[in-house]
Amino acid sequence: RAKHEGRGLTRIFTNAMDRQLRDRRAMEHDLRSAVDNGELYLEYQPQRHRDGKITGFEALVRWQHPLRGLVTPGEFIPVAEDSGSIAKIDEWVLMEACRQASSWDETMRIAVNVSAAQFRRENLEQQVRTALRESGLPPSRLELEITEGVLIEDISRASQTLKSLKSLGVMIALDDFGTGYSSLSYLQAFPLDRIKIDRSFVMSLGSNAPSLAIVRAVIGLAHGFNVPVLAEGVETNEQLSILMRERCDDLQGYLIGRPHKAELYAEYMKAGAGPLLKTAS
Ligand code: C2E
Ligand code: MG
Ligand code: MG
Ligand code: MG
Repeated sequence: RAKHEGRGLTRIFTNAMDRQLRDRRAMEHDLRSAVDNGELYLEYQPQRHRDGKITGFEALVRWQHPLRGLVTPGEFIPVAEDSGSIAKIDEWVLMEACRQASSWDETMRIAVNVSAAQFRRENLEQQVRTALRESGLPPSRLELEITEGVLIEDISRASQTLKSLKSLGVMIALDDFGTGYSSLSYLQAFPLDRIKIDRSFVMSLGSNAPSLAIVRAVIGLAHGFNVPVLAEGVETNEQLSILMRERCDDLQGYLIGRPHKAELYAEYMKAGAGPLLKTAS
């Protein structure tokens, strides 16, 4: 009997794996034509300086699949990275974000996430150069977000890449800080214009003393190197007031504003307006 049940379970398990694999293959297949079919679009999430002024927006990619509906980047970026369609997606995102931002107020920055694959690519500098030229966006208004993983993978190569990007005049932000092999020695080794403290530390601020210690240490050290700090995932007024007290420079999160299509934030993008209306979040 036990043997029989075991076989049954194996079959159920195998079927589930088959289904998962088939689903993954289907997603890989559909991703290859997603850009050409116009299924990708960008949402923009505001970034606010501690003085209340909106200083820019982060571009976040979305996939509107004809059958699956809305697919988040957490679901499809890893699949695209494994299956080779990431290059085309990266290129589209960069171009579209720069094109969009070129119509904004001249003080407004656009932050674009750079995938690990994109960072490793030989032609990243060329790609950025092309996006800037074709959109007419001044380089100082483009901020590229990279993660720690790509820096430690090959430190000398990474610093070469960053140097060539910096020579174009773009800004570099270190995203999700604290989640990887975080080391504040990055501040010395790499030309970083901003540190983004990961949402996981901001989330537990207030209730959790260790994350306050971490946030305080990161801000203290970054400021020692004259590098401003942005906190991501700010959701509550309590988190906001702690971050303000700790002299965090910039804020991003649902409390400030959720990611939305550009139309919804058009007023802020064009006017470089003051505090965001509560209704936009
Ligand atoms: P990320 O760069 O750290 O982006 C922040 C993520 O946190 C976004 O999720 C955003 O919607 C979410 N978020 C912002 N504020 C809050 C908040 O207050 N609370 C909570 N719970 N979440 C908040 P999203 O859009 O699902 O993106 C997830 C990740 O996917 C991004 O993390 C980024 O690593 C990646 N990604 C997004 N767009 C792109 C892209 O165009 N290219 C590449 N390579 N990666 C992208
Ligand atoms: Mg990011
Ligand atoms: Mg982030
Ligand atoms: Mg994050």
